[in-house]
Amino acid sequence: MALAASQCDYHMHSTASDGALSPTELLHLAADKGVQELALTDHDTFAGLQEARAVARTLELTLLEGMEFSCAWKGITIHLVTLWPQGLTETAREVAVIQEKARWQRAEKIIEKLSKARIQLELDEVVEAAGGRVPGRPHFARSLVERGYVKDQGQAFRKLLGAGKLGDVKNHWLEIDEAVPLLKDAGGWCILAHPLRYKLTRSKRVRLVQAFAAAGGQGVEVVSGRQDQNQTASMLKLAEELNLLPSWGSDFHAPGPACPFPGCFARIPAACQPLSEVFA
Ligand code: AMP
Ligand code: MN
Ligand code: MN
Ligand code: MN
Repeated sequence: MALAASQCDYHMHSTASDGALSPTELLHLAADKGVQELALTDHDTFAGLQEARAVARTLELTLLEGMEFSCAWKGITIHLVTLWPQGLTETAREVAVIQEKARWQRAEKIIEKLSKARIQLELDEVVEAAGGRVPGRPHFARSLVERGYVKDQGQAFRKLLGAGKLGDVKNHWLEIDEAVPLLKDAGGWCILAHPLRYKLTRSKRVRLVQAFAAAGGQGVEVVSGRQDQNQTASMLKLAEELNLLPSWGSDFHAPGPACPFPGCFARIPAACQPLSEVFA
């Protein structure tokens, strides 16, 4: 039977970055939710893929190898879901090494910046919150809650870690027009992640998608988790105007009410084709 777009999910996280489930637990959950084809897209790392490949074989899921790459545009952090449908290349692995190093450097800068506001965190404790891997902002948020500086993760982002706040390190990531060619040269397909999630005005969002397309970007998420039909229609229209491949995903991080489960998202428009068919 032909694969339906609703059985595909091209954006999710595991404990290899800031997700709550191991790749094994994640793929089992995805399969339980009816997902047949998926991409594991941890932030700036391929660390979860080896485990995910083995589980995908056992569960007979089609796994696309991916990473959610952090870059910058006009001072805002932008995420590129990048997929390697033919498998990782040596250059792709080198890109991941560079990105991971940048994440360690950023973690140290965040510690330093917070200390200027008399917030004392040790890198070790944040690394522990990240399960021994390089910490991302959600792990900082967890440590800030544990130390009692804020009441919950949401407040940690609102007060200290979110865009424009003290712990949001500026000028850290590659610019989008450097990142896209780098990823494409490494054999990746670049998809602009969750364009509706950057707190941009409509016209600025259009300029972002245009800049991404001008840099050589190939796809855009027209659905990210839950959203309304008008948003989907306007993103799809923009994708078509700019000749960008429409993609979609749950952006699953953890089970719970705050985050859509794998395979759970707004209705996928008929124009969306399973990516394995597009890449074939
Ligand atoms: P990083 O990639 O380390 O810069 O962290 C960004 C991640 O933080 C995103 O991928 C989300 O998972 C999470 N995040 C961003 N904003 C918030 C927020 N307001 N509340 C909770 N988590 C957030
Ligand atoms: Mn995340
Ligand atoms: Mn993201
Ligand atoms: Mn994500």
